[in-house]
Amino acid sequence: MEYDEIIVGAGSAGAVLAARLSEDPDRTVLLLEAGPDYASIEEMPDDLLKPWVSWADHDWGFEAEAAPGRTIKLHRGKVVGGSSAVNGTIALRGVPGDFQAWVDQGNDEWSWEKVLPAYRRLESDPEGGDFHGTNGPIPIERPEPAEWQPIQRAFHEACLALGYADVVDHNLPDATGVGSWPRNREHGNRVSTNMGYLVPNRGRLNLTIRAECLVNRVIVEDGVAVGVEVESGGELQEVRGKRITLSAGALVSPAILLRSGIGPAEKLEPHGIGQVLDLPGVGENLVDHFSVGVQAVPKEGTPHDVSVVTEVGLRYTAEGSDQFNDMQLAVSTIFDREQVRGLTDHPRRSGATFGVGAVVQRTRSRGRLTLRSADPHEQPQLDMHYATDAEDMRRLIEGARLSWRVMHGPEMAPFVEEIIAPSAEVIASDELLAEYIRATTSTTWHVTGTCRMGPADDVLAVVDQYGQVRGIAGLHVADASIMPDIVSCNTNLTSIMIGERVAEWQRDGTG
Ligand SMILES: Cc1cc2nc3c(=O)[nH]c(=O)nc-3n(C[C@H](O)[C@H](O)[C@H](O)COP(=O)(O)OP(=O)(O)OC[C@H]3O[C@@H](n4cnc5c(N)ncnc54)[C@H](O)[C@@H]3O)c2cc1C
Repeated sequence: MEYDEIIVGAGSAGAVLAARLSEDPDRTVLLLEAGPDYASIEEMPDDLLKPWVSWADHDWGFEAEAAPGRTIKLHRGKVVGGSSAVNGTIALRGVPGDFQAWVDQGNDEWSWEKVLPAYRRLESDPEGGDFHGTNGPIPIERPEPAEWQPIQRAFHEACLALGYADVVDHNLPDATGVGSWPRNREHGNRVSTNMGYLVPNRGRLNLTIRAECLVNRVIVEDGVAVGVEVESGGELQEVRGKRITLSAGALVSPAILLRSGIGPAEKLEPHGIGQVLDLPGVGENLVDHFSVGVQAVPKEGTPHDVSVVTEVGLRYTAEGSDQFNDMQLAVSTIFDREQVRGLTDHPRRSGATFGVGAVVQRTRSRGRLTLRSADPHEQPQLDMHYATDAEDMRRLIEGARLSWRVMHGPEMAPFVEEIIAPSAEVIASDELLAEYIRATTSTTWHVTGTCRMGPADDVLAVVDQYGQVRGIAGLHVADASIMPDIVSCNTNLTSIMIGERVAEWQRDGTG
């Protein structure tokens, strides 16, 4: 049989695409997912329902080189719902300037005015008004200030004392300052794209969801994608489709292209893969948000609910930067290590800690993905090149000092037993602080950009702005990998928005 649509990966973007395309009963949709499937909320294990309960049970186990010789864990969700099923549920939108940068790179279908309706369509946000949707599949919650944990409240007060504005809704386009993180949750439970988009539509006869199916490569005949090779039930099989869309995320969509012979010869030849199309950008432009933190041990008896890690955040513009809200600062508390056992890259691995950390948002440092072998079970090589750009480093140094000021302010004093790292000597010196950042900076799990979109004259563009792979008919990519530039926020809502936007074009035949 031949499906109308084969979608590879049921994550933030893929699940959305499958749900939207199968709204048309005459279109057959096959959604292939490498991880397991939980078809109802009753079947959902705790780690998928509770934000910040360990995600270790549904993880790909990727490792990356933060810098040459320094390996970190880079979690990605391996389950229907993808990383949206394991993530921290911070539900932020990019700012209008992020999308202007996409337009400036030749992608005029992604202006703020054009992405806003898709951001609105995906959500159900009680804030309402001109900027919010109120009946979309993903419910948004904001913890009320009265509910905040004492350390979170102290962080909020410290930011106000430093002159930052009090923000009620971080998702208004011109909001900047400190306030409750909006969350994709309902009654405290995480709402993934599986729960929001697929669970209500599983009765559709034209939508087939197949879990535990590992896609190896795309089958291309005479320049046209006609199907995929899949490992299912221990056997390698082929399935045919009129259109193939890769939504396997920024660490796997480019790897599938490379295994299919689509990419530069230097990335294919060492693994004996014959070249089908020379696309130099596949796996380049690997961009992430990375952080630096000031860590402390809390005073004995500090009141704390162990299910809370972060509730309040600051979005701000770095001194001297022309990019609005290009930095984030937040406090995170880890009082129970067993609960967050996926979080292994922490300076102190036993006992309760909390920290204030800064994260660069419009990151300039660029990493690279290459294959280690043609075997789909083997992980790709991920060279992150964190903080290799001077402006990223400058903003992180400033962010580390701001975190230090917050941690040493009178608001935090009742909770700080001891600052573990960095030392006052390190904070005082640009050189030592840069060294500390190079030695400790790590992922916030927002990998993007490895199949970036762009116009025909952009040599590193892998897809056009509709997600169509350049030079291969019938093959598309729709996930975080197509972002040409990372957005100034956590990347889940924007990945869902990408699924919504690409579905529009695929449904009406534009894409
Ligand atoms: C631990 C963690 C915390 C995070 N916290 C936040 C947060 O609080 N807020 C926020 O906005 N963002 C957060 N993110 C980031 C956000 O979740 C991602 O940016 C987003 O989910 C990416 O969507 P995607 O569709 O590109 O990929 P994914 O959602 O990762 O989907 C890819 C899917 O493809 C499947 N797949 C991969 N390879 C294959 C294959 N070969 N065959 C078949 N299926 C395959 C995967 O199993 C997965 O289901 C977090 C991410 C992680 C991992």
